[in-house]
Amino acid sequence: MAQPVAIAIHGGAGNIRPENLPPEKAQKVRAYLQQVVEEGYRLLREGKMALEVVEIAVRRLEDAGYFNAGIGAVPNERGEVELDAAIMDGHSRRAGAVAAAHTVRNPITLARLIMERTSHVLIVGQGADSLATLWDLPLRNHEYAPSEVPWSYGTVGAVALDKYGNLAAATSTGGISGKKRGRVGDTPLIGAGTYAENGVAAISCTGQGEYFIRSVLAYDIAARVRYKQLPISEAIQQAFRERLESIGGQGGVIAVSPSGEIFLYFNTPGMYRASIDAQGHIFVEIFR
Ligand code: ASP
Repeated sequence: MAQPVAIAIHGGAGNIRPENLPPEKAQKVRAYLQQVVEEGYRLLREGKMALEVVEIAVRRLEDAGYFNAGIGAVPNERGEVELDAAIMDGHSRRAGAVAAAHTVRNPITLARLIMERTSHVLIVGQGADSLATLWDLPLRNHEYAPSEVPWSYGTVGAVALDKYGNLAAATSTGGISGKKRGRVGDTPLIGAGTYAENGVAAISCTGQGEYFIRSVLAYDIAARVRYKQLPISEAIQQAFRERLESIGGQGGVIAVSPSGEIFLYFNTPGMYRASIDAQGHIFVEIFR
């Protein structure tokens, strides 16, 4: 029997409602999400590793311009773009991340290279910019590219299970619009916005980063699965209720289990999301 593979992606959770997203735009974003998730699924079926596939999927979403990540990233209060991203390999629990990076076009690729080429996990600001130059990565052009869709948060992320049983997670964002210079959200913090561990879950979060940091939400979900042996759906609901909502946090999460079940959960009006589970069922939605 073929080993199961599965993938889920998100383009952010927030106040996304049919009344503030014109149908033709919603259609465009849905089609884009579908294309990204189908490509990811095909690559997994062909035998690509989960780590590779989540990086590719997030890079596509960074390049879309639809989301608050990569070329569509929102500016901080000074009008500068500062990008955060993280990637984690559930097999080795190795991870790479960047925060407040200014110049790189695809922060997720820089995060992966930090994981693979340095002994560090997280590199910030000018340090991240210099590595992007040193490694000859494509740079973003500096103008702020207004996104075509109203995002409320609009971070992007991907989680995947590959043929070999490996899980991986990746998340990338411009953060919160109008944020203070140097503000870092949950996205690049391992365990807050991004986490993967083989045999447990791969998780990517979106929402008000400060609340996700204070809840250590991604790791809290994984810990409930690992130590309480909860099914992932229950772990997510408990973590949202007991950790996030209890302090007023809003947002969403995507997760994949070691057997390829998909979970797409949010407490906001909408979340851009798409998935293909171990049975090959495809799902693409924006609204509740
Ligand atoms: N969580 C991200 C941050 O706080 C924002 C988002 O998900 O939209 O930086």
